[in-house]
Amino acid sequence: MFNEKMYALGSKRSIIREIFEYCKTRAGEIGADRVFDFSIGNPSVEPPAEISQAICDLVNNESSVLLHGYTSAQGDASVRKAIADEINEKFGAGVGANNIYMTCGAAASLTISLRALLNAGEECVVFAPFFTEYRVFIENAQGRVVVSTPTPKTFQIDTKDLESKITEKTKAVIMNSPNNPSGVVYSEETIKAVTDILKRKEQEFSHPIYLIADEPYRELVFGDVTVPYLMNYYDNTIVCYSYSKALSLPGERIGYIAVSPKMQDSENVYLAICGAGRSLGYVCAPSLFQQVIKKTIGAKVDVNIYKENRDILYNALTEYGYECVQPDGAFYLFVKALEDDAYKFFEKAKLKEILVVPCDDFGVSGYVRIAYCVDKQRIINALPAFKALAEEYNK
Ligand code: PLP
Repeated sequence: MFNEKMYALGSKRSIIREIFEYCKTRAGEIGADRVFDFSIGNPSVEPPAEISQAICDLVNNESSVLLHGYTSAQGDASVRKAIADEINEKFGAGVGANNIYMTCGAAASLTISLRALLNAGEECVVFAPFFTEYRVFIENAQGRVVVSTPTPKTFQIDTKDLESKITEKTKAVIMNSPNNPSGVVYSEETIKAVTDILKRKEQEFSHPIYLIADEPYRELVFGDVTVPYLMNYYDNTIVCYSYSKALSLPGERIGYIAVSPKMQDSENVYLAICGAGRSLGYVCAPSLFQQVIKKTIGAKVDVNIYKENRDILYNALTEYGYECVQPDGAFYLFVKALEDDAYKFFEKAKLKEILVVPCDDFGVSGYVRIAYCVDKQRIINALPAFKALAEEYNK
């Protein structure tokens, strides 16, 4: 008999994928322009021009054997150095090439880190609302998911709740800011409070508690909002970074893990990461894209396009009576459903061809996520349907 757990995962698609697939079928039936698909976090902004330029330069000028060959398992040394230099320039974190491990995006960064850190039965705290795949990744590493509930309405971390959820078995805490699905950026005050708790709990239980910073949306912030760099607040930090959203390259599968050099036992944790990558069969991150990243350090997508979408959607929806947190980053709007059951709300929205994601699997019930990484016109075209939906509830 094959593995039952894997069968369960494969036969039950994530709700996001489920809705995304429905949208494609529905678009075939009534036309793509009449389906308001806000289901998936696929970047809608073009990658920076430097990316295609770098690909062409590399393909035309470099040795194909090297360019398409294996790199060392942890990634090409010159690529890791370029990334470490960039981190140090931006955050002064004192990271070296040997603290960087190249990965196939944030999902790989997380699965490798969790596999490296957790022993069977150990606990990993996640802050609701959280990216649904955390549960899959943690359980696959034989860990136990412990959910910390947020401060109502603001969706900032409730530090009292966090404190109550940390036990002797807590090995890691995952923090995701800017957050998927809320778009909330955790404030520096929150970060300080969280890391103070973790430091105290480490003392109390006499073992490290690792802070995993899941940062695929770090660069997607609006106005003068800044995202504190967690290594500068807490020594036992591992950053799981990805270029999927930062450079609009989700299909290219490229990212990295950065292990804080100030971490207790940093070198050995790095070796455990190498071992986890090996055991999971990653071999190495895509070679061509490692080089592309090195050549385009500092490149950025135009975040203002997302900001414009956010403003149109947030302003209109709040005017129609929807309740939502104003997101400071990422490309999601977290909206209170107009009835307690987010699935029923989802079904009613679907009748108006609006496809949003109910957030029960993200650890918060009664909310839906609207991914506004879409063409601006889709948002504008969907507004009358959102308005009609609100009016239907107000009748
Ligand atoms: N973490 C969060 C919070 C995400 O939203 C995503 C993707 O949507 C990932 C990790 C995985 O990103 P990647 O495509 O880089 O694997």
